[in-house]
Amino acid sequence: MSETIWFPGYSEHHTGLAVDIFVIDSGKIIRDNDDMIASVEIFAKIHELLPKYGFILRYIEGKEDITGYSYEPWHLRYIDSPEIAKEITEKGLTLEEYLGET
Ligand SMILES: [Zn+2]
Repeated sequence: MSETIWFPGYSEHHTGLAVDIFVIDSGKIIRDNDDMIASVEIFAKIHELLPKYGFILRYIEGKEDITGYSYEPWHLRYIDSPEIAKEITEKGLTLEEYLGET
């Protein structure tokens, strides 16, 4: 949602491994970036479930200098392995840190 440039290879979405989500709270669709960031409790519940399905939160809070992106609670990255996703999540790592790219 935050990606507005569509050149091939520019966005992680072009890998086919990333997805942006929005939430519906009490029947109201929340898709504005600021409103989603403010939806702390809802995203906490969603983020807790991610590793079980092989996903990680890609742009975590406080690691903007490593990822190059602001915190995006909606941008999820498929890792394939629930075990690795769990390890990355529990250690609070970025994908770059896990892959040793920092
Ligand atoms: Zn995204």
